[in-house]
Amino acid sequence: MSDKRKKQKRRKARRAKKRTRPACGLCGSTENLTKTECCGNWICDDEHEYVMFSYARNSCYRNHRRYTLCGLHHTEGHEGNWQDCDQCREGMETEMYVHYGTNEYNFEKLSNPPAYEPTRCHACGEVIVLGDGGYSMKGEDYFCPKCSAKRMNELMLALQGPKSNAPDRQPEKDSANGSLREWLNDVPDAYAVRFSEVVKLTDAFCDDHLNVEYKELCREMAVAVCQDGSAVLKGKPESWAAGIVYSLGRVNFLSDPSQTPHMKSKHIAEGFGVSVATMQAKSKVIREGLDLFPFHPDWCLSSLRESNLLT
Ligand SMILES: [Zn+2]
Ligand SMILES: [Zn+2]
Ligand SMILES: [Zn+2]
Ligand SMILES: [Zn+2]
Repeated sequence: MSDKRKKQKRRKARRAKKRTRPACGLCGSTENLTKTECCGNWICDDEHEYVMFSYARNSCYRNHRRYTLCGLHHTEGHEGNWQDCDQCREGMETEMYVHYGTNEYNFEKLSNPPAYEPTRCHACGEVIVLGDGGYSMKGEDYFCPKCSAKRMNELMLALQGPKSNAPDRQPEKDSANGSLREWLNDVPDAYAVRFSEVVKLTDAFCDDHLNVEYKELCREMAVAVCQDGSAVLKGKPESWAAGIVYSLGRVNFLSDPSQTPHMKSKHIAEGFGVSVATMQAKSKVIREGLDLFPFHPDWCLSSLRESNLLT
């Protein structure tokens, strides 16, 4: 074999070696890799870099798991291939189905994605791209970011009531009766309407059945849940409000009759006019997003904290 041939051969072998070196199928990185549970593809082992409820999209692993049909199909425990799964197809709006099946977090994109009518703003008729977020919902109706802002202002006025008309009043954050505006500073604009809707409900519920401590924690949790990328825009505000109270109740043993106040899960759901199953489903999303557990120090009533060894 000539020297030239040998060199060529060696170069070829080197190239082949380079090709077989595993790389993340999404970003091409070759460091700190793992395989996806859903489809066994190489991917960055970077889920730990994700900050809970920051909804950042910086984790390849999380992006594939949470924002693709492949990942969702696996997480939901569906049978068969995601490409022809009826449960996936029927479980979401066609537009989101196509988005989850074809976005850049997929290794393999959905071939022949179904056609869909664009989603339009209920108020102004403008087309809304659901995959981009930034919209709000009321029941089945979608509102574009502009109309969402308008709705938010109307809601704010309604929420503030006749007493707080003075525009420059500085609300106190540590008072549960303080202005919601302060809390809204921590909520992205697109989520402001939903936040207001949810908090209006939890406020009323806590006033009627629980106490100021619960009311305050519900508001805090609503802020944490109303962040970019959250599923909170889907479904009714009542379901999320119930999910929040129920989640906090689990942290604080609300169903324990030796506690004051105490309340059965069934009655929380009834109070918001939703089913127990719906309430529990929302609570699961919240619990996973916030890593909740009983006596969680961030979400524990201060009255309960005294008897809590974890804090
Ligand atoms: Zn990656
Ligand atoms: Zn996958
Ligand atoms: Zn599926
Ligand atoms: Zn609009």
